[in-house]
Amino acid sequence: MTTDRTTGGAGRVLVLNSGSSSVKYQLLDMRERVRLATGLVERIGEETSRLVHTPSGGGEPRERTGRIADHEQALKAAAEELAADGLGLDSPELVAIGHRVVHGGLKFSEPTVITDEVLAEIERLVPVAPLHNPANITGIRTAQALRPDLPQVAVFDTAFHTTMPEHAARYAIDVETADAHRIRRYGFHGTSHAYVSRRTAELLGRPVADVNVIVLHLGNGASASAVAGGRCVETSMGLTPLEGLVMGTRSGDIDPAVTFHLKRVAGMSVDEIDVLLNKKSGLVGLCGDNDMREIRRRVDEGDERATLAFDIYIHRLKKYIGAYSAVLGRVDAVVFTAGVGENAAPVREAAIAGLEGFGLAVDADLNAVRSGEPRLISPVDARVAVAVVPTDEELEIAGQTFALVHN
Ligand code: ADP
Repeated sequence: MTTDRTTGGAGRVLVLNSGSSSVKYQLLDMRERVRLATGLVERIGEETSRLVHTPSGGGEPRERTGRIADHEQALKAAAEELAADGLGLDSPELVAIGHRVVHGGLKFSEPTVITDEVLAEIERLVPVAPLHNPANITGIRTAQALRPDLPQVAVFDTAFHTTMPEHAARYAIDVETADAHRIRRYGFHGTSHAYVSRRTAELLGRPVADVNVIVLHLGNGASASAVAGGRCVETSMGLTPLEGLVMGTRSGDIDPAVTFHLKRVAGMSVDEIDVLLNKKSGLVGLCGDNDMREIRRRVDEGDERATLAFDIYIHRLKKYIGAYSAVLGRVDAVVFTAGVGENAAPVREAAIAGLEGFGLAVDADLNAVRSGEPRLISPVDARVAVAVVPTDEELEIAGQTFALVHN
């Protein structure tokens, strides 16, 4: 039996995902590999703040409403809820706090214990992640104030993509300009792509090193990645999460000259264009809805705008499946994950339809199964597996955090 040198046999990890006006938290026990509680604080700073805390093991969710002024109050409220379940954050059982940090640039290819230098580097990346990194920094500082004695670990969304070869990561623009401003493709959702590609290899019963996978992370944000033998070789998001697939509210790929046109001809400011492309485009821009359930309902009723939005979404997915098949050369599995990927059977069916030439097909009965488990949806004799693998970014963050502080 191994002895726990640094964690003394304790194994709880608190995972924090801090947004600008929300904090998602989960407490997990990584020795037992169980989730102890989950929670969400939203609309921080407004009068209508809300905390929903869900204890594991069948406990009823508890809700608090009313103003939660800032992240510090949010974390304190979460700590009170946890304490009410006997899971106080002052417990010696808690060994670390793992933070989702969106942008780690090129420096951070691994989970990293947060020091003042690390925090300064996360801060230096604010210009390339202006929406996300400031909120992550606030979350880290708040957690540090609460438990200054505990290791705080940053797990970066970009880390898994740092293995991308230079020819995939660089934009074909002037090298000096690009380097001066750190302009390159970083990719995001890396924690999910890492977890899902590994679980896919397990599902196939093969070593990660032998398996080539295309991961389609389709949530409100969406990204694809090509993973060869456990290493990311290409991903669809770029300098920011705007590039790539059609998303709930983001356009994904467009001709960059559209932005010049919007400025010069439509008279829009850069900030207005930013909002247009990040918040008012994608599915919501095309048809007014970004929830795939609602879009499918409208498609089934014959709504033309919803049908066109769905078709554009699927067309882009097919382009990426084709492109990443070429990048990988040999594909063992195409795997769907996140809210849309895990739940929307019509999206999976339509994205794979017509790709028989790539050895891809979906079995209608298997595709119709609803389950929280990783599963194959391709016919038994298929040359390439098609799978649904539910993502679990918090478990991955907790696992990476625990591994770092535990040895
Ligand atoms: P994110 O973490 O990016 O906010 P999620 O991965 O939770 O997003 O995905 C949210 C999206 O998943 C919703 O906007 C909706 O489009 C889609 N979704 C969730 N449940 C279903 C369902 N049962 N059928 C179809 N789509 C669904």
